[in-house]
Amino acid sequence: MDFLMVGAGLSCAVMGRKLAEAGHRVTVIDSRDHVAGNCHTERDADTGVLVHVYGPHIFHTDDEEVWDYVNHYTTFLPYKNRVKSTTQGQVFSLPVNLHTINQFFGKTMRPDEARAFIEDQADTSIDDPQTFEEQALRFVGPDLYEAFFKGYTEKQWGCSPTELPASILKRLPVRFNYDDNYFFHRFQGMPEDGYTPMVEAILDHRNITVSLSTPYEPSMRADHDHVVWSGPLDGYFDYDLGRLGYRTLDFERFTATGDWQGCAVMNYGDRDVPFTRITEHKHFAPWEEHEGSVLYREYSRACEPGDIPYYPIRMVEEKALLADYIQKAERETGVTFVGRLGTYRYLDMDVTIREALDIADGFLAALGGDGRL
Ligand code: UDP
Repeated sequence: MDFLMVGAGLSCAVMGRKLAEAGHRVTVIDSRDHVAGNCHTERDADTGVLVHVYGPHIFHTDDEEVWDYVNHYTTFLPYKNRVKSTTQGQVFSLPVNLHTINQFFGKTMRPDEARAFIEDQADTSIDDPQTFEEQALRFVGPDLYEAFFKGYTEKQWGCSPTELPASILKRLPVRFNYDDNYFFHRFQGMPEDGYTPMVEAILDHRNITVSLSTPYEPSMRADHDHVVWSGPLDGYFDYDLGRLGYRTLDFERFTATGDWQGCAVMNYGDRDVPFTRITEHKHFAPWEEHEGSVLYREYSRACEPGDIPYYPIRMVEEKALLADYIQKAERETGVTFVGRLGTYRYLDMDVTIREALDIADGFLAALGGDGRL
């Protein structure tokens, strides 16, 4: 079969590779002038620093097959994400761990004491937390919530944490030991030369043709048997039911010499600091040495037409609209919607790859039958 894959990010690269290896013809197009979508990395010409152009991407997974998959295409080097937070005039360690708790409350508690102490702070009358705020009050109590989560989340999502689902906070652990690794996955690392060479290697197959700076046109469909769409779900339908809400990010880039902030990610919990965090990109590749430094101040705001969509908001009104778009997508024959934008979900890279592998396997199994999808 002949597949047109729209978007040269992880979803289409991984699916395209599987389909190409099974003998199908794959054309990958992207409106941007590079592959790898939002995990695109680029060396800064002046400093040589590997820059995560669309914000930091740290690879972490428990899925051994996915870990083996990415390691097949590039060398991953060990990287642990150790995030700090500046709030209320001090620097703390994240995710909230025993060091954070002891420093914040001026104590020297051991794990069991800290657990009891936090349980005492927590609002145990909340049985089944539904909102972000309820989840925070239930598990860390009001003081830690105010310092680390309330202001940051208002800036990140542009609304009150009472309007957001508890699931967003559930991404973050609270630890009663001194483990300050932001993620708890078994496998973590960074591709030695960045994500873009990795995606280029995945796409490097004789049955795959890549066309960059090539926006999708509906007329392209006629030349292919099946379309895989990793662009925005609502964008495929020309936004005819309305726009699904996203947050976009503005990066204020600046350079420095030496080590500007001493770590890769510094979050800012205070509401009156307008940015959410500052990332210093050289620290994402600690095995490299550079005199210069490239940093991003990160600001979050509502996504307007023409902006790059980053985070699907998925609040009540978006959920209803999403259901309508999903119905439309299901009625559309000859097109499969994939990835973060194509399915309007908050997906980490490992989940994106897992889903792409599984969808491609599903295609191949279906094609083994009557040859149709
Ligand atoms: N969050 C917060 N304070 C922090 C870091 C995270 O309040 O210092 C909240 C914020 O609402 C964020 C959510 O926790 O969207 C999930 O955090 P994560 O680090 O997973 O955010 P992402 O990777 O999506 O930027």
